[in-house]
Amino acid sequence: MAIEAVRGDITRQEVDAIVNAANQGLAGGGGVDGAIHRAAGRAQLRAACEALGGCATGDAKATPGFNLAAQWIIHAVGPRWRGGGHGEAELLASCYRRSLVVAAELGARSIAFPAISTGIYGYPAAEAASVAVSTLRSTLASTPLGIELVRLVAFDDATFERYRELLAAPGPLSP
Ligand code: ADP
Repeated sequence: MAIEAVRGDITRQEVDAIVNAANQGLAGGGGVDGAIHRAAGRAQLRAACEALGGCATGDAKATPGFNLAAQWIIHAVGPRWRGGGHGEAELLASCYRRSLVVAAELGARSIAFPAISTGIYGYPAAEAASVAVSTLRSTLASTPLGIELVRLVAFDDATFERYRELLAAPGPLSP
């Protein structure tokens, strides 16, 4: 079981499941959501998302990956940052936990995450990275999910460096 960080484009990851930073309507949008819809195939992914009937903040739902190398897309809805006093950290942690569980239920053994909520939704990137790493570590250590690889995909250098620092610090799953 490993958690690793890479700098790159999540649509290019060769893993069983990639996570999308979606919105409650699962209607497609900008940022990573738009990139995933383009790469997977807009029409077919839109139809699959419509059939799911939306998704609550903090939850995650799956569709096929269509034209992606990944077999599945896990659509997770992160919180909008509203200053930090509105349960944002718990909702963001819930996205990471629920995405792991949904992926495991589909039999995925590898999964890649973008930095959920850190773009249009405005979550401070360094804090979001801490939530991501601590939640992934605690969930994977406490729950047998059969997931062997978790890849954190950073779209910018600062996020990538932050992941590397956090992953190098002692934790239950550090090397
Ligand atoms: P949110 O609405 O949850 O904030 P965004 O898509 O606006 O979602 O941004 C989430 C993060 O995804 C940002 O850090 C952004 O830089 C990053 N991102 C955008 N495009 C990609 C991509 N193709 N691959 C990986 N990360 C991406």
